[in-house]
Amino acid sequence: MGTRQKITLILSGLFLTFLILMVIIVSLNFRDFGIKSAEKRALLTAEVVKGGLTAHMVNGMMDKRGYFLDQIENIENISALWIARSPTVIKQYGEGFNSEIARDEIDKKVLKSGKIEEVMTETATKSTMRMTIPFTATAFGATNCLTCHSAKEGEVLGAISMVIDVSDVRGSSFITVGYIAAFAIIFMILVLIIVNKFFKPYINIFYSIKDVMKAAYHGNYSKRVDGGSLTESNAVANMLNSLLEKLQKVFEEIDKKVYIFVQNKNKEISNDPLININKTIDQLSEIYKFKQTIEHDEELDDIYERLAYVFKTKFSLEDFSIIEADTHSGIKKVVYSVNGCHCDVEAGKCRADRINMMVDSTIFDNTCPVFNKPDLQYLCIPYSISNELNLIISIVTKDEQESLRVRSIVGLIEDYIATAQPAIVSKKLMQILNKMARVDQLTGMFNRKYLDEFVETAIPQALRTNTPYGILMIDIDFFKMINDTYGHDVGDEGIRIVSRVIKESIRSSDIAIRFGGEEFIVLLYNCDKNFVKEVAEKIRINFAKQKISAGAESFSKTLSVGAVMFPDDSDSIWKCIKYADMSLYYAKEHGRNQVVCFDKSIIKDDSMQDSF
Ligand code: GH3
Ligand code: MG
Ligand code: MG
Repeated sequence: MGTRQKITLILSGLFLTFLILMVIIVSLNFRDFGIKSAEKRALLTAEVVKGGLTAHMVNGMMDKRGYFLDQIENIENISALWIARSPTVIKQYGEGFNSEIARDEIDKKVLKSGKIEEVMTETATKSTMRMTIPFTATAFGATNCLTCHSAKEGEVLGAISMVIDVSDVRGSSFITVGYIAAFAIIFMILVLIIVNKFFKPYINIFYSIKDVMKAAYHGNYSKRVDGGSLTESNAVANMLNSLLEKLQKVFEEIDKKVYIFVQNKNKEISNDPLININKTIDQLSEIYKFKQTIEHDEELDDIYERLAYVFKTKFSLEDFSIIEADTHSGIKKVVYSVNGCHCDVEAGKCRADRINMMVDSTIFDNTCPVFNKPDLQYLCIPYSISNELNLIISIVTKDEQESLRVRSIVGLIEDYIATAQPAIVSKKLMQILNKMARVDQLTGMFNRKYLDEFVETAIPQALRTNTPYGILMIDIDFFKMINDTYGHDVGDEGIRIVSRVIKESIRSSDIAIRFGGEEFIVLLYNCDKNFVKEVAEKIRINFAKQKISAGAESFSKTLSVGAVMFPDDSDSIWKCIKYADMSLYYAKEHGRNQVVCFDKSIIKDDSMQDSF
């Protein structure tokens, strides 16, 4: 029920109650007034009758009293009037004219008690009052009753009964009540009209505020309060409207500014900008915490681990891989994987990377040629980290529903990758710098610094796992002559050629190092003496076949190799390297262009052994 209806109902109720009470009070008052005036009239009439009868008696005209009594009975509103003699009077004078005996119980009661009796009779159409008044004997009134009546002082001589019609009083009361009711109703209607007119603008603004607040509660701040015609309500409306306008503007500004930082604008969350802002701030704070954490990570792998942790815990991804794609070489590398990568990424045909768009298997089956689990769905998101590096997040799902869920959070996933991007770029840069510091610029081979680190980390492990290494020390024969004859550039070319020959002759698990000048060390992983010799010979023979160009001319050179086995020849890698150097020296001394495998016999000076 509306407020206006409520006010009308309450006021109507109050008026009605007031009206009913008024009618009751007026009716009761009228009744009381009717009874009282009837009583007065009856008492007066009784006095008149008593006086009249006494006069008749004194004048000896008692036989004429009938006329007198009829006259009295004819007085307006007196419906009936009769006299009842007491037994004393009947005994003295008989029943008298018209048999003046007690007509009913009331008469008898009054004759006996000497007390006035009164009975009201009210029907739908008529109201009457029956009153019976006793006449008592007295010697001290205007007339001494005891002179004629043989009775005692105070004895009841008779009673007069009257029936008085009081209907006219009731009629007047009805008319009065009718007037009152009519006036009250008119008054009530007027009050209701005035109250309605007075309250209407307030109620209207109240409803308008209610509507606007309801809309604002549900996130719609564009509604405005209608102030109506009153100055006060307009002031309230203006204040509320300017507050709403301010809120709306602030939310719009926040919407523009805050969402710049996040890809996923939470559009699907709610229509309420407050809820969205709250969610976005939550999201930003989470992302900020993530950013702060990865800034302190030392290694690129730590960042990938942390990204993976977020994917698992925050986005409930169960099966995914993070793949690095080199934009120049096209080489892909799986840098993190939960259940192993389900793509043959090394084939280099990653569709997401090639088209630089999200690839979703639920949209089109078998979209990507390198995904090798046909019973699973996949969603691969490419992300450009730098000019040189793309990341591909390959998310594998069991069904279409899960794919849909993942698709709905792609924006959030991208937010985290975007946050990690600067750290990934800087770590990559560090990796490149580190690599550069460990790579020889002329040949692209590792340098001596790398050898130091490798020895420190890999050799103890090789000893633990009993993994042998074959070590080759390689040096170009009479290299100085190239420099001297053809110049330094040709000499450099000779160094490049030998490094290429070495790289072509070894496996990817082997490590080639430019040890200095035109001297190289090769660490052959997990091999025996024969294999070492074989590789060394391969390098020697292949190099000898190479033509080194010097302007219009070209020439060939040879190289010598010293070979040693770690840990067979020594469990100290540096000692092994020295033995390799000694073997090389031996090869140089014994004609060059040959491979010499280390043997204790080639150690000329025994004291050398102790220098390691
Ligand atoms: P051997 O057969 O005994 O090894 O004779 P060799 O002339 O090769 O003697 P050695 O190995 O001692 O010669 C090293 C020379 O290599 C000396 C140096 O001028 C030259 N060299 C060192 N580094 C470079 C380089 O980066 N570029 C060029 N062009 N020459 C270099
Ligand atoms: Mg040399
Ligand atoms: Mg040398």
